[in-house]
Amino acid sequence: MISHPMPLKPAAERRDSSARPTKKAKTKHESSPFEEIQIDEPLGEAEGSAGLTSLQKSMKQSLDGARFRLINETLYKTDSHEAQRMMQEDPAVFSEYHIGFRHQVQSWPTNPVDHYVSSLSKYPLKTVIADLGCGDAAIAQNLVPKGMSVLSFDLISNNSFVVAADICNRVPLPGGEGKEGEKSGGTGQVVDVVVFSLSLMGTNWPTSVREAWRILKLDGDLKIAEVASRFSELDSFVSLVSSIGFKLKSKDTHNTHFTLLDFKKVARKFMTTDKWDSILSKGDLLKPCEYKRR
Ligand code: SAH
Repeated sequence: MISHPMPLKPAAERRDSSARPTKKAKTKHESSPFEEIQIDEPLGEAEGSAGLTSLQKSMKQSLDGARFRLINETLYKTDSHEAQRMMQEDPAVFSEYHIGFRHQVQSWPTNPVDHYVSSLSKYPLKTVIADLGCGDAAIAQNLVPKGMSVLSFDLISNNSFVVAADICNRVPLPGGEGKEGEKSGGTGQVVDVVVFSLSLMGTNWPTSVREAWRILKLDGDLKIAEVASRFSELDSFVSLVSSIGFKLKSKDTHNTHFTLLDFKKVARKFMTTDKWDSILSKGDLLKPCEYKRR
């Protein structure tokens, strides 16, 4: 069973200097790909540490690390409505999460978003890419100036490349799912490539894969990068994605930190609500990702 994390404190309360990292933040988790990653090392002078003594800096880093892990846990263990509510109530949560997230992935030997920037830059210029759960929209920031069309979505828009949307609810792009009794690829799509780079987060993530199918052209590419340790059974994950109307083209499990999966959209039969309910309830095929401190 999934336990719900404690609610996050309002921003004003968090700035209270008497606050201390919770005991929970010090918990050691048994298995994680982040054994070697230290969350409490300096997050950088630019992140609000100017003018603090080294003891204050160290305390701030501990608090930032604990906050990051708490937000991370909420994002993975609740559904996207809860995540969206949390970020809309306190947009600082989004930037705090991203400071911690960037800190984590920068210590990886390579990271998936750089891989996608490089591989997608070789696609024809007319390619339309949808980056679902884009974070800082690194793909758009690199490829839009080269003339490509990248449509980037995240819960909060923190720069001009990003459209705010819950990708597990409705991605604001055209596309239909086809009619009852028909096998089809739907109609109206404009997107050639959908990317999920470490962004299958809420417990209702399968709905975002359904959205990917709805907005993708037939034969379009679906690219998924996820933290390797999140897959308890990679084959079951691939089967679930396939049941939504995709065919696996390639998988790359060589990287120690993340797994890359490439699918293509195929036509599928119209599915009843019961069938959808069964497919969409399988969010536990991906384990939450735990970032730990040493
Ligand atoms: N793709 C980026 C960011 C990964 S962090 C990269 O690889 O660098 C995961 C991102 O997914 C976060 O920015 C988070 O806000 C976003 N995300 C998770 N669930 C989402 C949802 N339901 N709707 C929109 N964005 C979501």
